[in-house]
Amino acid sequence: MKLSFEFFPPRSPAQQRRFWRTLGTIETLAPEFVSITWGALGSDQAASLDLLAELQKTDIPIAAHLTCCGQTKSAMRETLSQLLALDIKHFVALRGDLPEGQVNNQGMAHAIDLVKLISSESDKHQHATQISVAAYPETHPDANSAEDDLYHLKQKLDAGATRALTQFFFDADSYLQWRDKVVSAGITKDIVPGILPIHDIQKVQSFSEKCGAIVPKELIESFNRYSDKDSLQQLAVEHAYDLCQTLHHEGVDGFHFYTMNQSDLAWRVGCLLKGKEKFEDLLLDTAA
Ligand code: FAD
Repeated sequence: MKLSFEFFPPRSPAQQRRFWRTLGTIETLAPEFVSITWGALGSDQAASLDLLAELQKTDIPIAAHLTCCGQTKSAMRETLSQLLALDIKHFVALRGDLPEGQVNNQGMAHAIDLVKLISSESDKHQHATQISVAAYPETHPDANSAEDDLYHLKQKLDAGATRALTQFFFDADSYLQWRDKVVSAGITKDIVPGILPIHDIQKVQSFSEKCGAIVPKELIESFNRYSDKDSLQQLAVEHAYDLCQTLHHEGVDGFHFYTMNQSDLAWRVGCLLKGKEKFEDLLLDTAA
């Protein structure tokens, strides 16, 4: 089973120490890749670049997210050449989001523009590159319709993307029904479900609203039944593991975890998926 884990660049020295500790733990799960997010409009670009340079010194396969909205093509080309110089071989090509009310009057309007640019620049530098793109089982909030959203996903994949990583969702049926439509649309590339273990139900409800993901009422109620940390964490692990298991029985063999830089939950789910119930088993595997 292929597992990948998403992190954002740590900001303070304390966050940095936690990031490297966490990464060591995630490494025990032999991730397919670890991905590092990129600020919209290139914000915090220096932090992402520094972190990617450090990560390239490790053995862990890395994917660099990149966002393009509000950027000119020449600025994106410049950023891309910095990342290619770091020998980054896997990009997650995204549009990003402009601040509310701001109009995109630059050349790079959609993720497909970035997919095309990464493909052509990688070819120019004879750099074999993988490109992942975003997909939305519950439809992107800006989409004209679910069909239109799927059409644009296919366009990104046909333009050279290798796979899609989905927005998180909490209901297996909503992913599986959407996957049927993906298949009917003639998409054959890998669509990897995005899994968000619920670290804080209130925060998850609030950002789900912004990105169009549905948090089922029963799930909210089950989290609201507990107040102690251990029970909430146990519920989060059980829910994410059950979701992955249901999808696995339907033929899904890879998952992308949104860690929120708190990867203890993602790590525990990953251990269960890999059939490792005890931390000692993982340490033995890593030492071997
Ligand atoms: P697009 O593919 O451009 O799609 C956006 C909307 O436009 C959709 O509604 C689509 O249907 C429509 N559309 C697409 N192409 C066209 C077209 N040619 N003409 C008309 N309409 C079109 N954000 C960050 O800022 N940094 C990150 O690191 C980051 N990582 C992410 C990782 C994953 C796995 C996911 C799922 C999202 C991530 N995001 C990140 C959030 C992402 O930037 C937002 O969801 C953003 O609103 C859309 O990005 P996109 O790449 O899907 O855009």
